[in-house]
Amino acid sequence: MKLDHLLETNVKNFGEYPMLYFQEEIFTNIETKRISDRFAAGLRKQGIAEGDKIMVILPNCPEVIFSYQGINRAGAIIVPVMFTLHPKEIHYIVANSGVKAIITSSFVLEKVRTAVCDLVVQPAVITVDVPSGDQVLNFYDVLVDKNDSTELPITTTEDDTAVILYTSGTTGSPKGVLLTHKNLYTNAENSAKHNETERGTILGVLPLAHVYGLTISNITMLLGGSIVIFPNFNLAEVFAAIEKYQVRSFSAVPAMIHAMLSYPDGDKYDTSSLEWIGSGSAPLPVVLLNAFQSKFNADIYEGYGLSEAAPIVTAHRKGIQIKPGSVGIPIPGVEIKIVDDEGKELPVGEVGELIVRGENVTQGYFNNSVETDKILKNGWLHTGDMGRLDEDGYLYIVDRKKDLIIRGGFNLYPRDVEEILNRHEAVSEASVIGIPDERMGEEMVACVVKKEGNEVSAEELIRYCQEHLAKNKTPRQILFMGALPRNGVGKILKTHLRQNAASVIS
Ligand code: ATP
Repeated sequence: MKLDHLLETNVKNFGEYPMLYFQEEIFTNIETKRISDRFAAGLRKQGIAEGDKIMVILPNCPEVIFSYQGINRAGAIIVPVMFTLHPKEIHYIVANSGVKAIITSSFVLEKVRTAVCDLVVQPAVITVDVPSGDQVLNFYDVLVDKNDSTELPITTTEDDTAVILYTSGTTGSPKGVLLTHKNLYTNAENSAKHNETERGTILGVLPLAHVYGLTISNITMLLGGSIVIFPNFNLAEVFAAIEKYQVRSFSAVPAMIHAMLSYPDGDKYDTSSLEWIGSGSAPLPVVLLNAFQSKFNADIYEGYGLSEAAPIVTAHRKGIQIKPGSVGIPIPGVEIKIVDDEGKELPVGEVGELIVRGENVTQGYFNNSVETDKILKNGWLHTGDMGRLDEDGYLYIVDRKKDLIIRGGFNLYPRDVEEILNRHEAVSEASVIGIPDERMGEEMVACVVKKEGNEVSAEELIRYCQEHLAKNKTPRQILFMGALPRNGVGKILKTHLRQNAASVIS
């Protein structure tokens, strides 16, 4: 099935139901489809052909959904990009992917202009809120053609690329992950099946430019549900929306769950409708999971995924035991194994690299066969994540291979130490990294944000770790920080922490 068919069943069954809520606006399924189809026809009139790539770089708003649906309807390929990126990063993606057009807004326009200014072939710029002229075209002017796209001749199939998703580059240069319609559609379908997700209203707090947010919107469309879109993560608005729409479930990242738990006005809202929250994209500290579940009387279903798997691989779900620290079990249609460096499957309980197989797995990276060959071997996707399985088939992500600290020849997993530090009453957040050390090869440094109004010394935290961990797992230094550096989807940027720590400590 192709992604631009996501809305078709809804239009038949739930045509007049709201599909999108955004601030004061409501778009029904019929309206969402009509605008998207007209946008597809408009794109064709602008000279966009099948297989062309179009960047969408917008804060969350209805036009992101209209653009995604319209681009695919026109047989073109979506290149979603986080608006928070630096112009240099945007430039890299524009040049690497060769986009024909960029859909953006006044808020991001300057960055986009800086990013493309020295390109020989200039992509067309379409903005959702700037009038046409001055080398930009207005999104709604592209719709001028009142026809929909039902007559568009399209030859693309479900095996064609629908999206090129650039990884956030937390571990190197961003790579364009090729995802077909089938990769994304089956993943959304299997995720919904896995959790027996019901049609309802969910909160679109995740950036739609990230694979996690994109897939959540696909699942909502697939089920004929409604999504409340937020341009940014504003706690008062999020809590008010839970109350207003009687939200039963939604998906978030650990940084959002942490912020919700710490929000002092949270008690002023009725959140009793909440049954569960999905958490993914970064490790969820066990202490945070427990505190959230008891405060909100709602479960947290932690899951695991990556762009290269379109993205969901495993998740907790209704009706199975929640195992704190685990990322659940594989969703239907996805196989997983833990292997050693030679690719040999490891027994239950042993730590090795997680590999994944299924219809959700990418064909590789755009124009990058060297990196593709590193991740795809004999039909299995090598994730670069270290994990282990328990006797019930639950997966535990131990850490990223690249974040592993090798101190005096021993492998140390930062996550073990982070979990302990997060338990300390004065610690709000902790992230553990390795920095080069002449004697030991690498030394362990913990970057810690204190809870407001709490005092704790580095010595006390080191002592605390010594009490709970083997001696060689204790950080040698604690760096107190005001906040941890994060990317647009709330992931801690360990590369920044390593650079920062190396300069402060040396
Ligand atoms: P890059 O690969 O360029 O560094 P990225 O990490 O942001 O970018 P994504 O596809 O967004 O790329 O993220 C996938 C990664 O996120 C996984 O490989 C894994 O390391 C991490 N991840 C996702 N879910 C979890 C989880 N529940 N627990 C721990 N790590 C997770």
